[in-house]
Parts: sequence; C-alpha cells; structure tokens
Amino acid sequence: MTDRSCRVLLVYPKFVPNSFWNYAEPCKLIGARYPAAPLGLITVAALLPQTWEFKLVNSNTDDLDTADIDWADMVMTGGMQNQQPDCLRLIDLCHAHDKPVVVGGPDVSSSPHLYVSADFQVLGEAEDVIKDFVSAWERGERSGIFAAEKFQVDVTKTPIPRFDLLTFEHYLYICIQYSRGCPFTCEFCDIIELYGRNPRTKTNAQMLAELDRLYALGYRGHVDFVDDNLIGNKKALKRFLPELKAWQEAHDYPFEFSTEASVNLADDDALLEMLKQTNFFAVFVGIESPDSETLIQMRKKQNTKRNIAECIHKIYGYGMLVTAGFIVGFDSEKASMADSMIDFIEDCAIPVCMVGMLFALPNTQLTVRLTKEGRLHEGYDIMAEDKGGDHCSFGINFDPKRPLRDILSDYRRILAHVFEPSAYAGRIDRLASMLNRSGRRRDLPEGDPRRRIGSIEGVYKIINAVPKAREIFWKTFNNCARNNPAALRYVVLLMAMYIHLGPFSRRAIEQIDQRIAALDQAEPAHAPAESRVAAAMT
Ligand code: SF4
Repeated sequence: MTDRSCRVLLVYPKFVPNSFWNYAEPCKLIGARYPAAPLGLITVAALLPQTWEFKLVNSNTDDLDTADIDWADMVMTGGMQNQQPDCLRLIDLCHAHDKPVVVGGPDVSSSPHLYVSADFQVLGEAEDVIKDFVSAWERGERSGIFAAEKFQVDVTKTPIPRFDLLTFEHYLYICIQYSRGCPFTCEFCDIIELYGRNPRTKTNAQMLAELDRLYALGYRGHVDFVDDNLIGNKKALKRFLPELKAWQEAHDYPFEFSTEASVNLADDDALLEMLKQTNFFAVFVGIESPDSETLIQMRKKQNTKRNIAECIHKIYGYGMLVTAGFIVGFDSEKASMADSMIDFIEDCAIPVCMVGMLFALPNTQLTVRLTKEGRLHEGYDIMAEDKGGDHCSFGINFDPKRPLRDILSDYRRILAHVFEPSAYAGRIDRLASMLNRSGRRRDLPEGDPRRRIGSIEGVYKIINAVPKAREIFWKTFNNCARNNPAALRYVVLLMAMYIHLGPFSRRAIEQIDQRIAALDQAEPAHAPAESRVAAAMT
C-alpha cells in the first residue's frame, strides 16, 4: 500500500438515546461514559495504510469538535440502525465543511438507499474492498461504492484492531471478535444475511495477539466477544479455549469475558466448563418466545424441544449470568400471551431481559416474506428517533396478524411486570441462589475499574440511585451476602443495571400508552385492525 499520508477522522455516531442498550447511567458508577467501545472503526483503521493519520471520536462519549472535521481529509463513519439518525446528520455536517464522507457498517450494508448522501459507501465486510477504496482515493476519485462479495472475507487475515485509538476509561468493556456468522436460520435475524451461516473464526494466535496488545496497552477488566454466536463453530472454539485459559493463567487473569451464544450452549458440559475455566462471566442468549409453535414459525428450532429454564439454570451452575432477548408480535402468537411470557421469564430467573416487539429489520428473511405478503410498512427501515429508542417502543413496523392493540397491551403488561422492582429483585434472588461461583477468583484484577462498585460506598450509591427499589434491593443484597457471598459482585452489577432499566421501562410504557391512545382515538373499537395499525404508526 501507499506511503502517502491522509488524515482520517473516524466518527462513531450516537445511538438513539432511549434504547435498551444505551445504559450510560450505570457506566458512570465506575467513571465510564458508555458501555461498549467501537470495534468496527478501529478495525477499519488497522486495515487502512498505516502511514495515514487517524483520529477517533465516539459521539457517545465525546462531543464532536468541528475543528476535527476541518483537520481531516476524509471522514469515515457508520454503524447500526440505532445510529442511523446521527450518522445521516454527520454526513450533512461534514459536507457543510466540504469534507468527503465514507460510510460503512451493517446499516448501510442493509439499507444503502438511505445513505446516498455519503460520498463513498463500503458495503459488507470491509477487509476485501478496502484496498480498492484506497486505490480509488489515491487516483483522486471522490465518490464510489465498494461492495464486498458476501461471506468471502478470510478473517484470519484481519489485522489487530487499533486499540491504541481508544480511551479505555471511557468504556465499561472493550470488544473483540473471534468469529463471524451463525449456523442457525432465525427468520428475523440479519446476521446470517450479512455474515453467513458458516461461521468463520480467527486463529488462536491471532486472538492471543489481540489480547497481548490490549494487555500491553494497560487494559484490565471486562472484554466482550462480540461474536454473532460464539459457539457457532464449536470445534474451533474448543481448540481455542484451552489456549485462552493458558494465556489467562500466564497473565494472572487480567480479563473477564462476556459473549453472545445460542441456548444449545447448555447441552455441552465440556464447553461450559471451558468457558468457566477461561473466566467467562456473562452470556446473552436469544430466547424470544415460550411458545414452540412460534419458535418453529420463526425458524428458531434450536430453542424447541427443550426446557429453556433448565438450560438457563444450568449455565448459572457454571457461574455465568444470562441476559436474554424476548420478542412479542409474531404471527403465530395466541391471543393474550402476556401471562405465559411473564411466567416464562420468571421461571428462567433472568433479571436483565430485553423484551421487545418484533421489528422487521432490513435484509432478513422476515422482511422478504412480509414484502411478498404486502404487509411491510413504507419506510420500515428508517429509524424514527421521535418515536422512541428502538423496537422496545416502536416495533411492529408491518401489519400484524393479531390486532395491534392486543400486541401493545400484552407487551405493556410484560414490561410493567418484568421491571417492577420486586419482580426484578426476586429474579436476582433466584439467580443468586443458583450462580455457582466456586472455583472462580473472587477479586477483580488490579486496574479493573469495576472494583469501584465493589466497596460498600459503591453499593450505597447504587441502591440510593433507585429509591423505588431501595428497601427490596437491600434485602436482596443481604440475602446474597448471607447465602452466596461469591455471587455478590454480580448481584450488585445487576442492581446497578436497574438504574437504567427502571427509567427505561417507564419511558417505553409511556410510549406504548401513547400508541394505544392514538389507536383508541383513531379507531372506533370495531374498526378493522389494519386501520388501527396505520393510525399507530403515524
Ligand atoms: S441464533 Fe442468533 S445469530 Fe443465529 S440466526 Fe438466530 S438470532 Fe441470528
């Protein structure tokens, strides 16, 4: 590649403020500003010529200074659908400063038509097309579209991300990636359309080199494997984990890991043990629905023919917390499914549940089907900031089979129950009784910022921040201190999450109430469902 220099401003757009995942408040307890560090942009920085100069601005942690735009020769940006409004604003701002903008990442790859104002689009996985982009730039071209062939990128050649561009203290955790893709077929999922069903993994040496770099840069603490499904290629993973364990031992366990995995993780005791040995402490699992028929219809068969609650409890038995996703609004749902969903969540004893309404993401099989059936709403892929933070408030961007009002009422009831303080604390209590932290280190490594919330002052701060739950949270804290002190740190962490989840759920409920009121106003009770749908989406 080139010796010539170029100044690149990498800007990570703001997430919409009221999203479930936007839990900036609990981060402040440890002095962080935002949960996750932007892995995509620092990977792109590593792919570009290293003679170029880079500046990274994460708009979620820092205000963008227009002097930085003026400094740059080009601005690179992009992200997920929840970042779409800020990304589009940024393109306009850069143009006002006469700077070309390159946009990439999942949302532009799925909905390029929304980003036509950008000068360059990099679609799909960047590794294979970045050289073409650089050559075009050096030839003096100032616009173009570079589309990667699907699922062809050899991730073993992906360089170590430029972790040095991050300010570690700004984040609750740093992200790394081992694999891309997932073998399953969930109809609503865009992962398999973006990254394929044949998970591609990095080499063991490559992963350890990434951890070496993080370690050498002085980072200690929580590292999240942002894989679509960490256990998508179990064979490769089982070859990697023993080396990861040896690395952790040799470095005195500087990192505690989390990830995302399918629920069939619970079928594999050997794998669970390996995750335990390597210091994984949390896993996000897509559970979606208690109803087998619904799971079959959404093509999530891996969740059927099993007792999900037992699977979750088994993962607790290996000392890992489970957070999970649940969805309301599938075609096959029976009337009033709120009670069965609530019972299901309570049985699982999962405190942090992301319950959302079905949202047809662009670039999914669900969207293909709904388009064929003429049920998809116009502008379904536009992130409407004013309608709420994400699919927790404005999901169902299509004509549902069940009356929309029923879906909204069910959803409202689930949210109101699940995030009611005593229900939340009750699930923490039950989880704490199952979380087996034996054989694990109790102390976080020196330098891990999460140590700040381990002190009794930290606990007071958290519990005082949730006045509605104060009494009940103290009870939960004391129960755990008495019965399973090794789990106490995680119980405190889950209580800290409520600083976000309590207000988040109240805001989401208000937005659902507004949608229901709009339906009631527009609709005479006997009007057909379709007209009520249209009213609620306007
Ligand atoms: S298991 Fe998760 S990542 Fe895999 S297809 Fe289903 S939703 Fe997508």
